[in-house]
Formats: sequence, C-alpha cells, structure tokens
Amino acid sequence: MSTNQNYVNGTWTPLQSNGPTFERRNPADTRDKIGDFPDSQQADVQAAVYAARSALPAWRRLSPDARAQFLFKAADLLEKRKTEVAAALTREEGKSLPESAGETGRGVVLLRYYAGEGLRVGGHVLPSTNPNTLFFTERVPLGVVGLITPWNFPVAIPLWKAAPALVYGNTVVLKPSDLSPLTAQLLAEIFHEVGLPPGVFNLVQGGRTAGEALVNADGLNGVSFTGSTATGKSIARTCVERGVKYQLEMGGKNPVVVLEDADMAQAVELTVQGAMKSAGEKCTATSRAIVVEAVADEFTKAVVERVRHLKLGPGTDKDAYLGPLISQPARDKVLGHLEQAQTEGARVLCGGKAAHRPDLASGHYVWPSVLDNVTPQMTIAREEVFGPVLAILRVKNLDEAITVANDVAYGLSASVFTRDIGSALRFAREVEAGLIRVNGETAGVEPQAPFGGMKASSSFSREQGQAAKDFYTQIKTIAIDRAGM
Ligand code: NAD
Repeated sequence: MSTNQNYVNGTWTPLQSNGPTFERRNPADTRDKIGDFPDSQQADVQAAVYAARSALPAWRRLSPDARAQFLFKAADLLEKRKTEVAAALTREEGKSLPESAGETGRGVVLLRYYAGEGLRVGGHVLPSTNPNTLFFTERVPLGVVGLITPWNFPVAIPLWKAAPALVYGNTVVLKPSDLSPLTAQLLAEIFHEVGLPPGVFNLVQGGRTAGEALVNADGLNGVSFTGSTATGKSIARTCVERGVKYQLEMGGKNPVVVLEDADMAQAVELTVQGAMKSAGEKCTATSRAIVVEAVADEFTKAVVERVRHLKLGPGTDKDAYLGPLISQPARDKVLGHLEQAQTEGARVLCGGKAAHRPDLASGHYVWPSVLDNVTPQMTIAREEVFGPVLAILRVKNLDEAITVANDVAYGLSASVFTRDIGSALRFAREVEAGLIRVNGETAGVEPQAPFGGMKASSSFSREQGQAAKDFYTQIKTIAIDRAGM
C-alpha cells in the first residue's frame, strides 16, 4: 500500500484536505528515499480522534481477556514479520540491524506482557459504615488517548504505550515522529491484520502541526508523550489548560560513576556501550563519565583506545558498532556541542568532528567522541547532546561524584561501577534518577519494571510494568445499597 496514507477508522485514508506530504530518506544514505507520508493537518487528526471516540463504548465493554487476544495475535504477527520490521527500522532510523531486531523483539514481549496484564487489574472492596452497602473501587479506562512518540525507539515506544492503553480498554490515536513514519505504518498494518475493530487504533502521520492538533483535538481524554523536554513542557501547558490527563517522558544527561574499586574492564566496556551504541541517540544513553581521580587516567586511556577502534557505518554493515545520526539538523546540533565544549575548555581525545570518509559521504555521520577536562559548569556537562559523545569529569571521591551526578536538570538514569555494596547502596539512594544500575549500562529496562525519570526528565509518572495502569485507567468508587433492592 502507499505510504501516503493515515490509518483511520480501520481503513487506509488519504489526507482529508488532500494536503501536504513530507518525505523521509535513509539517514545512512540520503539518496535512498523511503517514501512520502501525510503531513496531517487539524481536520485529519480530528477525524482520527472522532473515530477513536466512536469505537470507545464497544471496546471498553469487551472483557479484558477479549481485548488481550488481539494483543497476543499482534505479538505473533510482529514476531513473524520481525526481519522486515527490523530492516525498516534500520533504514529509517539508522541503528544497527541487531539493535533493530532487539527492539522489535522487545515489542513482541511488550505486547505479550500487557496481554497478560489485562486480567490483573483489580479494585478494592472497602468497608462501609452502612451494613447494607457493598462498597468497592474499579479501574475504568481513561478514554481516547493520544500517543505522541519520538523517532529513536519507533517500535518499542509506540508499543509500550499502545499495548497497555488497549488492554485497559482505551482507544488510541498514534502520532509518531515524522522521522520514523515507516515503522509506525508497519505497526498499524499489524493491528489491522489482527482484526482490531475499526477506530480502536488509529495512526496519523506528521510533525509538529499534527502533534499540536492531537493535543488540542475535541474528544481527547489523555496524552502520553515521549520526546524532548521543550516539547513536553508545551504539551503539558495545553493539557492543563484543557483538562486533559498527560504523561511525559523526556530527555536525560545520564552519568556513570566509576569508583576506584570498579572492575575496570567492565566499567570501560559498558560505558562505551552506553555512550556509543545507537550513536548515543537514546534517552538513557551515557553522556557523562564521572570518575574518581585515582583511576581516571587508567579509565580514560582504556575508553579512548576502545572508542578509536569502533567501526562507524550503516546499520546494514554487520561490523558497524554505530551508525549515522537521524538527520542533518541532529548532526549539526552535535557538532555545535563539540565546538562549544572546546571553546569552554574541554579537550577532545578522539572524534570531535563530522566523519568525512568517502563511503559515508551521503549519511549524517559524526565520529564517536570522548572529551576530557570537562567541568560540571560546561554546557557539554549539562545539556542533552543526543549523539556519540562522552564527557569525562574527574572527581575526588564518591561524595563529590554524587554531587556532580545530581547537578543537572535531568534525572533519567544513572549507573555506578563499584565492588562495594555500601557505595552502591548510597549511590542508589542519593542519586536523583528514576533508573539506577550498579555495574550495568545506563540504558536498558525490562517491560515489567516501571520506567521513567525524575526532575526535568519526566512528569513524575512512570510507564511500563504495573505503573502503566495509573495513567491508562482511572479509579471509580461504587456503592451498591442492598436496602433499595
Ligand atoms: P521531539 O520533542 O522533537 O518530538 C517528539 C514528538 O513530539 C514527535 O512525534 C514530534 O512530531 C512531536 N511534536 C513536536 N512538537 C510538538 C508540539 N508542539 N506539540 C505536540 N507534538 C509535538 O523529540 P525527538 O527529537 O523526536 O526525540 C528525542 C527526544 O526524546 C530526546 O530528548 C530524548 O531524550 C527523548 N526520549 C525520551 C525517552 C524517555 O522515555 N524518557 C525515550 C526516548 C526518547
């Protein structure tokens, strides 16, 4: 089918306004055009929300088990189409094929996990002051939810929102990033093929205009957003004004702390992995290594040695460790950060510039970069870079490491490398981040665990695991009085 269509009310639909389109090209080779997609406008988005609204009463009346069957089938189909979906993901997002296959596999697990969760949403029976009253609570769906998602996990993030939304009885309008429209289209195809009733899941493609139209649409009850902090804040303002429930998961400036008793080989490998895999384009990517002086030289030397040997190339190259950045503006932003860091006094130990190798000339590549002499006040130590850049900050001890780790606006994930349980526990308790790892990479979570950040990384809510029901359901209190029967 044509890429230039939305999926609304169970059918592939051209733009109502017969309006504008946007094109997407492969970030590893911009000569490869992926397609033209609908740049949805207000009327297109509103039509999708009305479709979701009409589908809501019948969908929420189904038993959770009946709803779960659609998710089980979607999981099976996604598993069957894993190679195709992973290839599309690599083609439009740039991460390596094994990472894309891993993400698609995670999508399968998420669908199955939430299919099972449908029958686990309970309420409470409460005592009543009236002996004739049966008094209880029940969780009911929120209603029509808009899902606004970024491009960096274009399979996993839409699914970790859509799966709980659907199983708890909501209907959905997904507005993915205009940098990852193809994988979103494949997900819609899968929901269509498993026979979801029309209007239960809708897809509107587009950019900021479509996102704003969704947040402002008539008949919307909730917005679950993942993306940058600036966008999240503007969505929150609109939602507060309109009385729409919202949930935001946003940027990070995630540190690893390396203490003197760390397993150095492990600390080096997992820091490099956290910083450079997916070209550093993960909200949970490691962007600061905070290292105690006693081991700072040893750690830095080993990290630079490892990073120098990482292969940069398209995600389809099986030896490539990291691929291109998502777009030209993203590459310019990362290069701007590298330049500013040097102006502010940081020293580039490797990388530090765009990759001009002839075979990479048609992609948005930046060499994986390590910076030393970084201080906590520098911009590179405070702002999200979203690229393959690791800043090394040297500190005296654990006390100072915790202070530096916390001295940023963000609080998504953090990791410490140590063999001492006391230091590990102190770090876990005192570092302001929603996800803490000990001797692990800053990135990576499992679907049964709550996921989300503190401070500017989140709106204090959590996604995934049991936490998802707090957003996608609301509590109703019911009193049945026997005396009147
Ligand atoms: P972005 O904020 O530019 O866009 C995110 C989504 O919002 C896109 O679908 C976009 O079209 C839409 N949008 C843009 N402006 C809008 C507006 N005014 N109103 C409504 N919708 C609007 O983010 P991005 O560049 O796609 O993604 C990268 C960001 O996402 C990074 O900051 C990263 O840290 C963050 N992220 C966070 C998590 C997490 O779970 N915390 C996970 C992945 C990515």
